[in-house]
Amino acid sequence: MLNFDNRYLRELPGEPLRSPLPRQVFGALWSPVDPTPVAAPRLLAHSREVAAALDLDDEAMASPALLAALAGNRLLPGMAGYASCYGGHQFGQWAGQLGDGRAILLGEAINHRGERYELQLKGAGPTPYARRADGRAVLRSSIREFLCSEAMHHLGVPTTRALSLVGTGETVVRDMFYDGHPVAEPGAVVCRVAPSFIRFGHFELPAARNDLGLLRQLVAFTIDRDFPGFAGDLAATLVPWFTEVCERTGRLIAHWMRVGFVHGVMNTDNMSILGLTIDYGPYGWVDNFDPGWTPNTTDASSRRYCFARQPAIARWNLERLADALAPLLPRPAELADGLERYDETYAADFCTAYAAKLGLREWRHDDAELLEDLFALMHAAEIDMTGFFRALALLDSERPQPQALDDAFYRADLRQRHAARLERWLQRYAARLRLDGQPPERRLAAMNAANPRFVLRNYLAQQAIDRAEQGDMQMIHQLLEVLRRPYDEQPGCAAFSARRPDWARHRAGCSMLSCSS
Ligand code: AMP
Ligand code: MG
Repeated sequence: MLNFDNRYLRELPGEPLRSPLPRQVFGALWSPVDPTPVAAPRLLAHSREVAAALDLDDEAMASPALLAALAGNRLLPGMAGYASCYGGHQFGQWAGQLGDGRAILLGEAINHRGERYELQLKGAGPTPYARRADGRAVLRSSIREFLCSEAMHHLGVPTTRALSLVGTGETVVRDMFYDGHPVAEPGAVVCRVAPSFIRFGHFELPAARNDLGLLRQLVAFTIDRDFPGFAGDLAATLVPWFTEVCERTGRLIAHWMRVGFVHGVMNTDNMSILGLTIDYGPYGWVDNFDPGWTPNTTDASSRRYCFARQPAIARWNLERLADALAPLLPRPAELADGLERYDETYAADFCTAYAAKLGLREWRHDDAELLEDLFALMHAAEIDMTGFFRALALLDSERPQPQALDDAFYRADLRQRHAARLERWLQRYAARLRLDGQPPERRLAAMNAANPRFVLRNYLAQQAIDRAEQGDMQMIHQLLEVLRRPYDEQPGCAAFSARRPDWARHRAGCSMLSCSS
């Protein structure tokens, strides 16, 4: 059914001990561990695109053997359970060893085209890296990871994917508000899929322990398996490879900033070496435009990981990766080239993305001011980010009417207070459009291709969760379907593009999320 070729296991040192007992793991990049079986697994949803990428047809997806594997109840031929060892900086501090505490790798599946995908079960039970936690995941956070990975992919944002969402038939106890009121919630396991789950933190841990042999081995492996274009003598390829990682990270963050995605926990252990969005936890989507917004309640006071700081934090994380790689280089200062590439790539991609969002064929230097003024207005007037940009495509550049944007406002009083300011901005913008000179129908099509109508708004995910917890999975399937074509108008689906309703403004899960998952 699936063909495995587990290079990570074969080529990198692992621990001999097969036991989930918590421990520090030295001189090894993985530990063998079996998933812990669950009572009553049920396939609640799956991604047909990911299944297809893995050569899994409908029959395979319906088979009890695959379900058992996706629940962690058995391993299929060629699969091997293991957890990888990494460290990381959390909220700006070195946190030492972290590792896959509740994610268990099943191996590397090779499809008929020869493409390699690591399969990983999240929530499949404790590993040596679980510290004192249970290794499990609740249904609500698993739905959020499952739906958002697929939504991001269809938006064109690099991301890990999700093959399946399996209900375990067991409960998991979580204190969601950290207020001493633990609750038994339904549990789930997501099978996530990516060409590589290697994180910045994988390199940081051996570097922090001064295990340069292990570090060198991991770098050589990562380049060989995941960046084949950079193969060769390590001394010569390390800087160009790091520069590539920086470039990919720059592209990734420009995507987040263009669609209004806030990761929420940009610790270095949550940064993919491939430049993918990884580890969907207390993430969120910007509703009313607010540069300082963070969905993560743990981050509410410092706002380290708020929307507007993501580009600077990604750079800080790349600097930590550079620190880790430096001991392998005779002239570590050369890593600065990579960091510069990050700055350039992010800036260029951001401008290209926002030129497209504004319907401009090219970005001119003074467009930055036009955009800054728009951001300030959107913030002050609490304008919905996704709704505003989508509606802007309908503006007549000859006679701009602010009414076209009414739906993007959350508050009538703020709309009135900022009406004149919006009108002035629209006049400037319309003049800029006329200068750009793109025919209206072409501009409309180009803007609709750049501005999604549908994103996984926080309240939509929460509604799907509320229903799923009552046993009704329909909204998960509806969202999965709608979010497959986020840039299409999909006329019957207006309910999934509506701005956040008032009831959701301060509701947990809709505007803020705890890390408890
Ligand atoms: P995160 O904040 O999700 O990036 O997780 C940080 C670290 O905590 C990683 O090493 C995770 O594997 C671990 N972790 C988080 N939740 C659990 C859990 N329920 N059981 C075991 N390990 C966990
Ligand atoms: Mg993590």
